[in-house]
Amino acid sequence: MMRVVLIPQFSDNYAYLVIDEASATAAVVDVAEPEPVLAAAAAEDVRIVAILCTHHHFDHIGGNEALIAALADGDLEVFGYAGEAERIPGLTTALEDGQELEIGALRGQAIFIPAHTSGHVAYYFAAGEAVFTGDTLFAGGCGRIFEGDAAQMKASLERLAALPDRTAVYCGHEYTESNLAFAATLEPNNAALTERCAEVKRLRAEGKPTVPTTIALEKATNPFLRSDSAELGASVERQVGGLGGDQLEIFAATRRLKDNF
Ligand code: ZN
Ligand code: FE
Repeated sequence: MMRVVLIPQFSDNYAYLVIDEASATAAVVDVAEPEPVLAAAAAEDVRIVAILCTHHHFDHIGGNEALIAALADGDLEVFGYAGEAERIPGLTTALEDGQELEIGALRGQAIFIPAHTSGHVAYYFAAGEAVFTGDTLFAGGCGRIFEGDAAQMKASLERLAALPDRTAVYCGHEYTESNLAFAATLEPNNAALTERCAEVKRLRAEGKPTVPTTIALEKATNPFLRSDSAELGASVERQVGGLGGDQLEIFAATRRLKDNF
């Protein structure tokens, strides 16, 4: 069986231990700070056998070298996408889209989702019903487009949205509350969104994470998966104008509005 342990990093980043209970081994997704990761592995009594890197930004791979040194394990594998392999410290295995990887008895798969960075990947565990989406799909939002364009980001998000509805989504940051505040300006009549806003406010007031979310909940409430919503389209059109009902134009304008929210 697979189990996921969330590890806060910096002020709002999340790393995750992906644990294979059968072998008491684990992979860690996106290490910024090694100490809390080592502490979590010790608390769970698991051996870290792999680092899964979603993309090359400092707050996702900045802890690689220190963690690799602390583990001093020649079998440790460090995964990242081939397209940005040279930007990921300690990388041992460059992944292509769709390539499979094994963590003990767990099987994961790389899903190439560029646009936040040109070599961003998600890690999908079908049997574990979980996907690690880095800074591409956030709870209630999406990452900024730094190394791609709106069409690429839309396509990347659509690949993730095509995963089974019940898939748990583990993202790279705790940005949910502000993401949903923005979403609510575009779809004030979306009942699922209103309900989620209240739930997320309650969780944050209690100091609790809002992750994981699910693919189903994202499709119902995330404005970057809802370019086909009539209410969202009308809201964006009212602010930006001239979109002509085109879903890519609506998506791109939504991203620009969020950049300045
Ligand atoms: Zn990033
Ligand atoms: Fe980040």
